[in-house]
This record gives sequence, C-alpha cells and structure tokens, in this order.
Amino acid sequence: MAGQAKQSTSKAKAGLWAHTPPLPLNTSPYFLSPLALAAHFKWLYRSWLPITERLIFFCLAFLSWHFFTPHLAAGQAFALEWIALVWLKNIILMSVLAGGLHLYLYRWGKQADRLKFDRGSANRGGSRFTFNNQVYDNIFWSLFSGVTIWTGLESLLLWAHANDIGFWIGYSDNIYLFIGLFLVIPMWNSFWFFCIHRALHWPPLYRLAHHLHHRNVSIGPWSGNAMHPIEHIIWMGGVLIYLPLACHPVHFLFSQQLSILGAVTSHSGYEGLVIGGRKGIRLGDFFHQLHHRFYECNYGTAEVGLDKLHGSFHDGEQPPASLQKNRQP
Ligand SMILES: [Zn+2]
Ligand SMILES: [Zn+2]
Repeated sequence: MAGQAKQSTSKAKAGLWAHTPPLPLNTSPYFLSPLALAAHFKWLYRSWLPITERLIFFCLAFLSWHFFTPHLAAGQAFALEWIALVWLKNIILMSVLAGGLHLYLYRWGKQADRLKFDRGSANRGGSRFTFNNQVYDNIFWSLFSGVTIWTGLESLLLWAHANDIGFWIGYSDNIYLFIGLFLVIPMWNSFWFFCIHRALHWPPLYRLAHHLHHRNVSIGPWSGNAMHPIEHIIWMGGVLIYLPLACHPVHFLFSQQLSILGAVTSHSGYEGLVIGGRKGIRLGDFFHQLHHRFYECNYGTAEVGLDKLHGSFHDGEQPPASLQKNRQP
C-alpha cells in the first residue's frame, strides 16, 4: 500500500508538480467512516499536535481576547476608537503572517524549492491582476477588503457580547461545551467553506465575484484572502453562526483566525517550512492547490470531505481528462 502511494506520488511529480504530499490524498474519516474510532483519533491528533497551525491559532485566540480586544464596557456602543484597535490587530496579524511568509519563501527564497508544489508559475501573465502584478493585487484585496470585512464582523460580535445579545458562556460555565466547540469549529469552517465555495462557482456568482480569487493559478501567501468584497462577506459571514450559539468570544476569534489566517498558510504554495533541515510546521494545502489548478474539484477541505459525496474529489493523482480541459477558468 505504501509502495503504491509512493509510485503515485512520483507519477504526479513527474507531471505537473515539483513536490506533492503522499498521494492519493484522503479526507477525514469523521463522516465517511463514523465507526473507525482509531482513524478519528489519528486524524484529530495530526490536526492539532505536536505543533500545528491549528494549535497556534488556538493560542492566538486566547492572546487576542486577553490582550488585544477592547474591554467589555468600551464595546457597548459602536465607536471608532475600539473598532480601529480591532482593525489594527487584524492588519498586523495579516501583514506579519502573509508578508513574512512571502518574504521568507518567495522574495528571499530561504528554502528554495524544497516542499514547493508548483514548478515555476502557472499564472497567465500579470495583466489579469489589479495593478498588473499578482503580489500587489493580492495585498490590495487582502488588506483593503479582507481585513475590513473581517474587522466589521468581529466588531459586530464583540458589540453583541458587550451588550449581552446572544447566549454567551464563561470559561467555567460548561467545560465540556467549551472544549467540545474547539473540536467542532474546524468542521463548521470546512462545511461552510464547501457550501459557499460551491455556490460561488455558479456562473453568475463566479463572474460577479469569485473570478477574482481564481486569477491566481499558482498561489502564494497573499493569495489566500485575495477576494472580491462580495466573496469576503459571504465566506467570512459564516462567523455569525456564533451569535445564536452558546459560546465564548474566544470561540469566534479562533474560528475567524483559523479560516482567515489559515487561508494565508494554506495558499503558501509550500507543503511546510523546513526547520533544521527537516519538514517542520505544515503550511500549504495541496487539496486546495488542486482546486486552483483544475478549478472544478475540491471545493471544500479535507476536514469534512464533502467533495467525496458531491463527486468533485480529486486525490492528486493523474487528473481525469474533464479536469484537464478546465485547468484554467
Ligand atoms: Zn473556486
Ligand atoms: Zn483559494
């Protein structure tokens, strides 16, 4: 079995890719094999430990809440002062993560092509991008639209919490619910992303909004949030689920950072960072990289695996002819 996976991986490498994770790709066993408990545990363990971006965003959510979020009383009325602080925190997070990864991986080439998926660039020239340049285009849409809408939704939920609108819990009100939600949030993010992303491929919505994200065939850290404002509102709006839910603000902070900052790492174009000569922390999501290359596959993520039910799952091996035709939108 392992030998078969290796053969497939080298076949795929010989074709389009300079590097791939072990192929064929798989999706989580949670819903497709609900009784395979050992597989569930293994998937869960790999998603969180030993050091993963999920664990880092989990810690970041608590840091954000305790040190970088306006005090309850300040949030009781909408005011520019505290909303500007939320915006500042978000723009710093986005710029440090996306800018840092871009400089490290692409501008300075600190690990050259090690663990890089693409051979060169598959983008069709710079003229399809705003400012005729992929990086400037991606920075503009990520900061101008992405951070603004992220901040707006976060401020709305902070305001609801400060005014006791919704069903908010404290750290110790219900410890099972408090911890359990952190396990469910990645599934919700994945489910919501599949639903809205599939809808965004409906031709009128695609032409109106989603085409902007698909200018990026080869992707980089800034590509993750390079979207039309309509797409940002639909995608990031999934966080409003926490309003009628019994949760703590750290839950929606984690959910937002996991999807928004997670899009930065998942679009990095590299499977991981090389640390001490070995693959360190995982970054890129080959599952989604395939969507950017082949367009009509892998609308969701591997966390829920709805693409398998929908018939749009591509496991990274040689793509079917129908996908090859649609390599670029
Ligand atoms: Zn798409
Ligand atoms: Zn994408």
